[in-house]
Amino acid sequence: MPHFDTMAVHAGRDDFATLCVHAPPLDLSTTYPIHDLDTGTASFDALVAGAAQAANPIYARLHNPTVARTEAAIAALEGTEACVAFASGMAALTAVLLERSQHGKHVLVVRPLYGTSDHLLASGLCGIEAEFVAADEIAARRRADTCLVVIETPSNPTLNLVDIGAVVAAAGPVPVLVDSTFATPVLQRPARHGASWVLHSATKFLGGHGDVIAGVVCCDQSRATALRTVRAATGALLHPLAAWLLHRGLPTLPLRVERAQANAQLIAQRLGAHPAVARVFYPGLPGNANAHLLGTQMSGPGALIAFEVHGGHAAAAAVMAAVKVMTPAVSLGSVDTLIQHPAGLTHRVLDAATRAASGITPGLLRLSVGIEHGEDLWNDLAQALTASTGTGVV
Ligand SMILES: *Cc1c(COP(=O)(O)O)cnc(C)c1O
Repeated sequence: MPHFDTMAVHAGRDDFATLCVHAPPLDLSTTYPIHDLDTGTASFDALVAGAAQAANPIYARLHNPTVARTEAAIAALEGTEACVAFASGMAALTAVLLERSQHGKHVLVVRPLYGTSDHLLASGLCGIEAEFVAADEIAARRRADTCLVVIETPSNPTLNLVDIGAVVAAAGPVPVLVDSTFATPVLQRPARHGASWVLHSATKFLGGHGDVIAGVVCCDQSRATALRTVRAATGALLHPLAAWLLHRGLPTLPLRVERAQANAQLIAQRLGAHPAVARVFYPGLPGNANAHLLGTQMSGPGALIAFEVHGGHAAAAAVMAAVKVMTPAVSLGSVDTLIQHPAGLTHRVLDAATRAASGITPGLLRLSVGIEHGEDLWNDLAQALTASTGTGVV
């Protein structure tokens, strides 16, 4: 097995020699000619039943070779048999919930989660009933009709680490989905710890350049087959151009994550010593709960930092308004540094009590550190923090 960095460059390119190409071909066909009806019918049956491929792709909602190459590449990086790509991270989660709703109605969920994931689960929209529990309550709350456990690690926005192996053990026969968006397969591969589905908002680090909305679920072949039948029926597929851009970003994923993480370590440390800052959430800082998972479950602390400024909402808004190098915007995992206000933006859909219980205070800001020079980022943040105090002196 080649090293991860080598796989990132070469994965999903197995058919290049046969095709005699050097870059992935972009196939935008919506339909494919069927010159032999029997082959067409057999292919149609196979794809509707969730086959990964068939002799004839038939129709782009059933199969697309550009998307399939990207899926193969991401499965290789995540260390799973298969990967199924969707139109967004939310479409990916929806597909898993719809598939699970055929097996039971009860889903156990550990908060905090990405705001819209929390909202989708709580809404009951996908025919499931979510119960929100702490990680150590899973074994006790499991029911006969529990069909799924959902966790996110590190979690959004407060960077809690959840012990995947412990959750899998507590879940027993119930399969576990891990949203690993914040970690990327560079830092964490949840399938190794027993996760049945690894979900990524590929909009974030996997895409990495702020120009693709995409979601992927990495899993074994039989679960992938089930997800492809949902995708074929509901149509939440990834557009081939988006898949192509996603594939294009993968070779630099390890470089991007390592550089962004190095910048984040520097910034987290300095934030911890800054007088305008009340609290810093970063898995790499001493005192973080479940820090023992660093170096075992997760190889590094990652590129996301949350921090609370003194002065609440007004001070947080002033920091966002004052940054010049960083981009004040939601989303994360881009080459450029993004700063946003969870209570006012990404976690706005949660009710106030849930927000408070998840540590999402009015003064909390979330930083997705990019690959710019670390000193430029720190200087920008330091001047914004100074501006936010209103005194010009901190
Ligand atoms: C952004 C995000 C999602 C949702 O993904 P979209 O691609 O925006 O639909 C899910 N989980 C996490 C952790 C995210 O950050």
